[in-house]
Amino acid sequence: MTEIKKANELYFTFHNGNKVPALGLGTANHGDKIPQTKEAVKTAIRAGYRHIDTAWVYETEHIIGEALKELFEDGEIKREDLFITTKIGTPLAETPEISLNQSLKELGIDYVDLLLQHWPTSRKPIWKVEGVEIDRKHNKANNKNPVEYDFVKYYKAIEDLYEKYPEKVKNIGVSNYSTEFLEKLLKEAKHKPVINQIELHPNLSQRDLVKFNTDNGILVTAYSPLGSSGAPNAKIPLVLELAEKYKTSPNAILSSYHINQGVIVIPKSVNEERIKQVTELIPLTEEELEALNKIGEENPQRFIAPEFGRKLGFKHWP
Ligand code: NDP
Repeated sequence: MTEIKKANELYFTFHNGNKVPALGLGTANHGDKIPQTKEAVKTAIRAGYRHIDTAWVYETEHIIGEALKELFEDGEIKREDLFITTKIGTPLAETPEISLNQSLKELGIDYVDLLLQHWPTSRKPIWKVEGVEIDRKHNKANNKNPVEYDFVKYYKAIEDLYEKYPEKVKNIGVSNYSTEFLEKLLKEAKHKPVINQIELHPNLSQRDLVKFNTDNGILVTAYSPLGSSGAPNAKIPLVLELAEKYKTSPNAILSSYHINQGVIVIPKSVNEERIKQVTELIPLTEEELEALNKIGEENPQRFIAPEFGRKLGFKHWP
């Protein structure tokens, strides 16, 4: 693995034999960064990325769709050379077909390479209460109040989509599953998830959860590798030290940390330099990986912690 120097050229293989690029672009942008997503997607694809991560709730799918349309029309990339992930909107968790079709429409594509259950929970679909059209602007409500939600039942609804529309959904998986949730799901799932997408970085190394996934043939995708807004992980002294040693950026150290451990990583940036930095794969040693993992074992810090996560009993909630 250390012979490959470009993170964007490396692929991992799912238990079903399909492949996934190890590096993807995150697109959970907010505010004025939402329109900047268009240029970010173009920059990433021109820099060699082949994997885009999005979700119904991000409100960036239509912008990504604009970027893809132009790239396809200009012949810069073909759809079949890309790996596109989206996630069922939590307010639409009980109607995943509506969520999938809205995502496909906004992205302007016929299929997604990976469809994830975003959280093993749902939020109250408030348009039903208010009698308004299904509208992403209303998805922000009720973050504190997950509805009673049978996550296994609605994973099965995603399995049904996968079986019914193989031309629209190429792989299915989950996100934000703890070991306890996965154990319950694996007893009943007909199609084992190919991926569990979780928050993962040196400040939250979660080696026990990663091991549980890999022992069960499920790949892990690391989200928020920088620690999300403000990139707190880029200031970890050991990360800075390693960036100095390898004459690279903290961002490349933080992405390489995952890829060297067989974990897919989806850093988000709208900054051209940062988008390009992480295509570099740094051959961190076993000792360096161990030292990075220890940081989050001694003092775990989670940066994406919606209130409903506490109610679901997830670990290390701030
Ligand atoms: P990241 O950890 O990727 O951090 C991105 C943020 O850090 C951006 O605001 C970026 O700004 C900034 N940044 C990057 N490098 C630096 C630096 N060196 N100095 C200062 N700021 C920096 O955050 P995300 O939470 O976005 O996670 C990545 C992706 O994972 C998401 O975009 C989404 O696709 C996915 N995700 C999935 C979740 C799930 O529930 N499944 C939850 C959260 C994320 P700039 O753009 O200006 O570079």
